[in-house]
This record gives sequence, structure tokens and C-alpha cells, in this order.
Amino acid sequence: VSLRVYVLSRSRFDADAFAEFLQDEGTSWKRTPGASDTEEIVEVAGRVCYMSYGERQSPRDNANYVKRLIQMGHESVLEHAVWGFLLVGVSRAFTHQLVRHRVGFAFSQLSQQYFEDTDPRFVKPSVPLPDDARTAWNGAMETCKEAYLKILNSLKAQDEEPHPADQRREIRRAIHSAARSVLPNATETKIFVTANARALRYFFSVRGSIPGDGEMRAVAAEMLSLVKADSPALFFDFETEKLLDGSPTVIRRP
Ligand SMILES: Cc1cc2nc3c(=O)[nH]c(=O)nc-3n(C[C@H](O)[C@H](O)[C@H](O)COP(=O)(O)OP(=O)(O)OC[C@H]3O[C@@H](n4cnc5c(N)ncnc54)[C@H](O)[C@@H]3O)c2cc1C
Repeated sequence: VSLRVYVLSRSRFDADAFAEFLQDEGTSWKRTPGASDTEEIVEVAGRVCYMSYGERQSPRDNANYVKRLIQMGHESVLEHAVWGFLLVGVSRAFTHQLVRHRVGFAFSQLSQQYFEDTDPRFVKPSVPLPDDARTAWNGAMETCKEAYLKILNSLKAQDEEPHPADQRREIRRAIHSAARSVLPNATETKIFVTANARALRYFFSVRGSIPGDGEMRAVAAEMLSLVKADSPALFFDFETEKLLDGSPTVIRRP
């Protein structure tokens, strides 16, 4: 299974509503041509703190204004810019690490209790495996899958009596729970992740360049490339480079 990251949602700036505010306040805003919605949201939020509109607006363009906010450590304004990602082809081992990020993230993950996966798939380790290790890995996945399907089918076969709907749901949950207990960390999952720009910057800093965690680096690099395409100003100091093996790593420039 291969990694795929879709961006399903992003913050939208309502320039008309903001123009109404400026008019009500009798002031104006020199807008930077080409700045994206998320970049403008951050700039406008920052400027609200100082009401630096009209004559109080400095000549800095959007990119330089946002950069200065970040350099000053005025990072709470970055929390107004939000993206929703759907990650597919990631392992449960990876998502277990990802969901430890509590601040500025929201998660909705495929359930192994409610969704009956009759063909579980597995995410290969990111380091190339020598032949004997690859054979061991493939064999282990096959054994887990066989055991999972055997437990699922055997418990389902034992439970053929009619039950009221609410009991039926809990019986299925118990069957799926028993079966999933033999699925490995490599089991593929899907997760919808919403995160704001500040949380993403922190995530890229602490998770994007761990040499021994290729899956984490791959996801971080993919997410960075998507948000940076949207909002270069918010991620101006993050770059993706390649390690010697060609895999990506996310670097933060000081
Ligand atoms: C290299 C590496 C190795 C790791 N190894 C392990 C491991 O072996 N075992 C393990 O269990 N985890 C491990 N982790 C996970 C790590 O401990 C964190 O759970 C994870 O990185 C999320 O980070 P966080 O708590 O800073 O993020 P968030 O929960 O998103 O919090 C962001 C920031 O908010 C602040 N914050 C959040 N909650 C609190 C709070 N309750 N009190 C005060 N400040 C708060 C902190 O400044 C924090 O950095 C590892 C992480 C890394 C990067």
C-alpha cells in the first residue's frame, strides 16, 4: 500500500466581510497581491492586535509581516489557519505516534471495531529488507491475516441466532475486537487529520527529521509540500531535503 495525502479542507478568508469591518472602522488595508487565504487570515489576525491598518500599516508585505510574527514568537495568530488532511496508506504504528500530538490537532480514524475489514493490508517498513527479512515479514503478515480472518469467521459462525439490533451491534464489536487483536502495527489505516499552522510547524520540527523513522518523515514531507504550496509565508523556514538513501527529511532553517 502506498502513502497518499489528500488536502480536503483549508481555511477561507472572507475579504468582503473584512472590507465591511474596515469600512465600519473608517480605515483601510494595503493588501499584498497574490497572498493566499491562509496567509491573509494570519496577517489580518496579527494586525487586529495592533489595529495596524490605514496610516498605521507598515510597508511590509504579507510574507514579511508573517515572517516577523513568527520570528517575534507571536505564534498564536498562526492557529487561525487550518487544513484538513486525509492520510491513506499509513500504518497503525505511525498513527499511534501521530495522535500523541494533542494541541491544535483533531483526528478521525478508521475504526477496527465498526468497520469489518475483510482484506487487511499492510504498510511495508521504510528501510529495504534483505531477502530473509522480507520473507519473514511477508510470512508474518500472511499469518496475522489468516488468524484475523479465521477468528472473525469462526466467531461469526458461532453467533447465528437472531438478536435485537443494539445487541447485534455489540456482538459484532466484540467479534471485531477479538479478531483485530492479532493485527500487527503494520496494518494499513486511514485517518482524517485537521491541524492549524502552529501545530503543523511544531509537528514538522519534532517529527520531520528523525532519521530512523522513515514513515513519519515521508508523511511530514508530504504534508509540508501541500501546505507550503498553499502558504509559503507560514512555512518559509521549512524545507524538504533528501537523505543519502533518497528518502525525504524536513529541515527547519534557523
Ligand atoms: C524522538 C521522539 C521520541 C519519542 N519517544 C517516545 C516514547 O518512547 N514514548 C512515548 O510515550 N512517547 C514518545 N514520544 C512522544 C512524545 O513524548 C510526545 O507525546 C509527542 O511528540 C507529542 O508531543 P507534545 O506532547 O509536545 O505535543 P502536543 O501534545 O501537541 O503539545 C504541544 C505542546 O503544548 C504544550 N503542552 C501540551 N500539553 C501540556 C501539558 N499537559 N502540560 C504542559 N504543557 C503542555 C507543550 O509545550 C507541548 O510541547 C516521542 C517523540 C519524539 C519526537
